[in-house]
Amino acid sequence: MVKLPLRPWRKPPPILVFMLAVMLPAAALVVASVAYLRHMQRDKVIEAVIQRDYQQTLAIAEKRITERAFEVSGKAVKQFPNAGQPDQLDNFLANHPDITHAFIWTGKGQMAFRSRPERMAEPDFQAENKKLASEFDAWFAIESEEMMAKVKAAAAADGRNFYFINETVPRGDRLLYESFVFLIPRGSNPEHPALAGFAYDEDYLKSDLFPQALNEVLPYQNPGDTSHPHQAMMIRKAKDDHPLAASMCWDGGAPEVERRIDGVFSGLILGIRPEGTTIADISNRWTRIAFMILGALSLLMGVGMILAYRNVSSELALAKLKSDFVSNVSHELRTPLALIRLYAETLELGRISNAGKHQQYYEIIRKESERLTSLINNILDFSRIEAGKKEYSFRETDVADLVRNTLESYRFEIEQNGFQFEQKIDNDLPPLRVDREAIARSLLNLVNNAVKYSAAEKYLGVHLYRRNDKVNLEVVDHGIGIPVKEQVKIFEKFYRVGDPLVHNTKGSGLGLSLVRHIVQAHGGVLAVESAPGRGSKFIITLPVQNSEVQQASA
Ligand code: ADP
Repeated sequence: MVKLPLRPWRKPPPILVFMLAVMLPAAALVVASVAYLRHMQRDKVIEAVIQRDYQQTLAIAEKRITERAFEVSGKAVKQFPNAGQPDQLDNFLANHPDITHAFIWTGKGQMAFRSRPERMAEPDFQAENKKLASEFDAWFAIESEEMMAKVKAAAAADGRNFYFINETVPRGDRLLYESFVFLIPRGSNPEHPALAGFAYDEDYLKSDLFPQALNEVLPYQNPGDTSHPHQAMMIRKAKDDHPLAASMCWDGGAPEVERRIDGVFSGLILGIRPEGTTIADISNRWTRIAFMILGALSLLMGVGMILAYRNVSSELALAKLKSDFVSNVSHELRTPLALIRLYAETLELGRISNAGKHQQYYEIIRKESERLTSLINNILDFSRIEAGKKEYSFRETDVADLVRNTLESYRFEIEQNGFQFEQKIDNDLPPLRVDREAIARSLLNLVNNAVKYSAAEKYLGVHLYRRNDKVNLEVVDHGIGIPVKEQVKIFEKFYRVGDPLVHNTKGSGLGLSLVRHIVQAHGGVLAVESAPGRGSKFIITLPVQNSEVQQASA
């Protein structure tokens, strides 16, 4: 049987997870939105939606025109004279200035056809009256029964005892669209049947009924308001492109959507268009805005992702630094402990007879425990600083004494390590208010680094001097030095230069960040001057007259 080697599943790097989980869906969303917008543009989806909306408005307009015609004519029908009172027709016309003609027919040759008396002086109008009177008489003689049946059918259908017929009537050289209402007048009976009616002429329809109905249907008809495009409607005759009547905002041009009227005003056509623009323009503008919004959103998303990416990367870098720190620190703890144990056990076994050796072993044990203490102190200080609980106790101090004493306990060790040690401490330095332990720890950290990061040329210089209102403490070595681009980073917590020379040296990456914190708490500045291969100089600058500053920053 062949055994396949089991491949362990490797966790993908977090940045890859970030790219897959956040960037890919975001990019897919943008691409899908662009494709969708393109499809809307190509298939003229928005135009179709607007056209559908316009068709609906036209249907509503037709309904409103019909309702209004029924309202007006229904009222007139109620006041129409009795079949036996043709002499009342003039009176009826006087009470209804919107009506042009009114008539009662009681049998062939018995037609009372009256037109507006005040216009009868106009020859064209008079001719129209005569023509209609004789034509209607002839027409009714043939079709009166059928027409009466239509009136009855309308009454049975919706209680409306009249119906409309539209005719094109010549008046002089004009061809007018006139709307006739037919009814059975009161007093008509089977023995003496009568048919009656009245007419609205084109002038009334176009100046009154149509514009009113159209404006009622369209909302927001304020021509001064340019915040959104207005819709405008018109009504025209089938064979004439000029509008018979139009709504308030109609600004000419051809309608973009039309609807043929079938009902009361058959033969007319309703049209609609946006004011001052076209449906295609509206659609283009919409897609342009949508593209712009999408672009802006993508930009924001991109910026957000860059920020998130940078944040994730820096968190990852910090996590790596922390894990390096843990391994470094454990190593640093283990080595001195092992040494202490080894030398203590050797001494315990009493195998060493040589007094000099004894002394040497004790020294090693002391030095290693000091290393341990300083490491643990660094870690404790660091955690206090991180938790914001670090406290300083500032006391008037002779800094020259403090520096001298701190270095004294190390002088021997430093010189034993083969270092040339130079100490220059100026006299007559003013006393400073400092936290002695913290300043001593800062100095030791710098001295330790100088020792740790020196290779062939072993030199350590410590200088303390006054410069104007500042006191400078310099620690100089001729060690491996620090590249310029690393010189800012070395003060960050956990940071260690990625040089193999540094990695062969034990360290936690905490020392300089601690020193900087301490110096800043004293109102001072920590600086570095260094060149790779040439050595480094760390300078702590403390202000002289600064007791208040120190207290505030503490
Ligand atoms: P550690 O020494 O424990 O690594 P520090 O915070 O004291 O941490 O120092 C940070 C880094 O700065 C060191 O890892 C080293 O790379 C660099 N460094 C500090 N002091 C010196 C020095 N005197 N010479 C060269 N490099 C130094």
